[in-house]
Amino acid sequence: MITKEQIDKVKAVVRNVPDFPIPGIQFKDLTTLFKDAEALAIMGDALEELYEGKGITKVAGIESRGFIGGAMLAERLGAGFVPIRKPGKLPAETVQLDYEKEYGTDTIEVHKDAIDSNDVIVLHDDLLATGGTMAAALQLVRSLKPKKVYVNFLCELTDLKGREKFPADVEVTSLFSFAGTEGK
Ligand code: AMP
Repeated sequence: MITKEQIDKVKAVVRNVPDFPIPGIQFKDLTTLFKDAEALAIMGDALEELYEGKGITKVAGIESRGFIGGAMLAERLGAGFVPIRKPGKLPAETVQLDYEKEYGTDTIEVHKDAIDSNDVIVLHDDLLATGGTMAAALQLVRSLKPKKVYVNFLCELTDLKGREKFPADVEVTSLFSFAGTEGK
């Protein structure tokens, strides 16, 4: 069992960078977590504990920070890993989705044959801010008709209320959270 003390240890190594990439943003730099061997191992254990026994067949990670924890979780669960990428990166046939961002629109895509109706998916990204990217990824993955989709983040910025973007039938988890608007 992962303890609160262990999760606090992981949270404590996240670096807060004020005013990155623009003034007013408190950027949660998770590279300081990934480079810390003990924190990384606890992170893997905590992710595994959340999803073991749920019949997960694939973890889908969002480019690019979602590839790190996503691949780690997939390996821990004995599941496959599926990358969700920006346009033009995946070589075979894809399905795409355009979505609104704060400024302008963006597109994500996934290989059409990466997910099928037998799959139970964990969609993973590093951080939940407004939730716009993950909500789009959820819609994209659901268009391939998997059996079930779970949504997971390492870190959640609770003040931004990104959770409210997800339908009630989708289980959303995060390992730890920050209020989001203030520095550490
Ligand atoms: P969003 O669609 O607003 O939930 O944010 C999309 C992605 O932007 C997240 O998965 C993070 O990789 C990144 N991001 C947004 N805000 C922050 C922040 N304050 N600190 C670190 N990463 C962030």
